[in-house]
Order: sequence, then C-alpha cells, then structure tokens
Amino acid sequence: MQNKLVIFFLFLINIPSSSAFDLNDGHIHYNSDVWADLSKEQALSLLTENGINRAIVFSTPTAGTEKLYQLAPQRVIPFLMPYRVVRDRFTWHSDSSMVAYVKQQLSTGIYKGFGEFHLFKEHKNTVVVQQLMQLIADYKITVNAHSDAETIEALINMQPEVTIIWAHCGMDHPVDDVSRMLKQYPNLYCELSFRYNMFDKENRLVLKWKQLLEQQAIRFILGMDTYIPRRWANLPENSEFARQWLKQLSPSTEKRIASDNIDRMFPVKD
Ligand SMILES: [Zn+2]
Repeated sequence: MQNKLVIFFLFLINIPSSSAFDLNDGHIHYNSDVWADLSKEQALSLLTENGINRAIVFSTPTAGTEKLYQLAPQRVIPFLMPYRVVRDRFTWHSDSSMVAYVKQQLSTGIYKGFGEFHLFKEHKNTVVVQQLMQLIADYKITVNAHSDAETIEALINMQPEVTIIWAHCGMDHPVDDVSRMLKQYPNLYCELSFRYNMFDKENRLVLKWKQLLEQQAIRFILGMDTYIPRRWANLPENSEFARQWLKQLSPSTEKRIASDNIDRMFPVKD
C-alpha cells in the first residue's frame, strides 16, 4: 500500500498540469546542508508549488543533483559542480585531481553542463581550468560560471564554441559591459539571480536594463539560487518577485526569459 502511495506521489510531481507552470529556473542548488530538512521529493514539490517546471540543478556534493535527476529526469537539467566538498570551491581551479574526477563524472553521460563554479581573474588561466574547458568542449556541454567579466572572456577565448551561462550576469557589472559582451560573444547567456541593480527603488527595471532585456531577449534566463537552505524557504517570494518584474517587459520577452530560453537551450527528450 505504501509503495502504491509513493508511486502515486511520484506521478503527481512528475506530470503536473501544464497550466500550473510558468517558469524554468537556471540556478538551483540542492546542497547537502538541506537534505535532512528537504527530501528530494519535497524539493521537487517546492519547485512545483512555485510554478517552476524545469531547473538547472547543481550541488555540493553532486549526489544531490543525481538524486533529483533520478526522481524527475524530464524536469532536472543536471550540471556537475566541481565541489566534492565545500572547500573545493577555493582550490578546484588549481587541483590536478579535479581533471580525473570531472572526467569520471562526465562519463556517466547524465550531465548537460559544468558548474556552477566560482572563478576569478587571479586563477582564470590555470592548467587545470584549461584542461577542464577542453573536456567540456569535447563533451559539448554548457558552462555555468560565477565570475568577473575578465574571466568570462578568458574562458570564451579558451573554447569559443562552448556555451557559457554567466551566473548572476556578473552580479554588479555595469549594464554597458553586459551589453557589449552579449553582442561580442554569441555563445554567452546571462542568468539573473542577485542582479538587484537592474531595479530602481520601486522595483522597476531601469531603462538601460529594460532595453537590453528586450534587445537580447533570447540570452537571459531566471535563477532563484537556492545556495543556502533559507533560499529554498524563500522560493515563494523570489519566484513571485520574478513574475512581477517580468511583467514590465513585452509578452514575448517575458515568456522567453521566464521559460522558453531554457527549453530551447536544453530541449526535453521524449
Ligand atoms: Zn549559486
């Protein structure tokens, strides 16, 4: 009986009514610090309750991503984070054991991307980063980089064919830089979590940002960034905030950024 209930529950969370969903998310962490309080089923339900259909998921360690992916392979777009443990965040770019680790993980064939990783200009060109970018190009997967503009350009120059999602769209880089880079690099995309200076005090998009989002509508994706447990708890406010500001855009741009771009970049397989 219990098994039947579980199967029914899985059925519910895997096949939601299409009208309930209006968002796809480009920045979901399912890190080990939340597993005890938020089971994989609960995590997926939270996405469902907040209208989020598909999500790019990564985690420290990557077992969290695999758990969610196995539960809902049509909804989870798994990315490999190079952090086996939290401290890898600070050393991965110069840790030669990382290359064998990433190679072994990518050989499972489930990963559609590599990241989120944190990489800044001090370490933008290490041998390990070069080797990993070569692996990523060989596997034809996408990168998700939390980086400054200079580092993003270094990664692009290393492997121009690789699609790069710029996490937080550079966080606080000036809009003119973002605009220039999107024009210059056709394989660069921007994920918009924590991009608070897109807004004025009334949460209205500032003009330059509004224009850029309209002009480059196919290059932006949303992100809720559940990097700590509190951000999972905040999903209702954060997804609602996204819906509200997206309404300031034209309907076609709104829909692209809300969901269509991720579906185009990562088509669902039958
Ligand atoms: Zn993140």
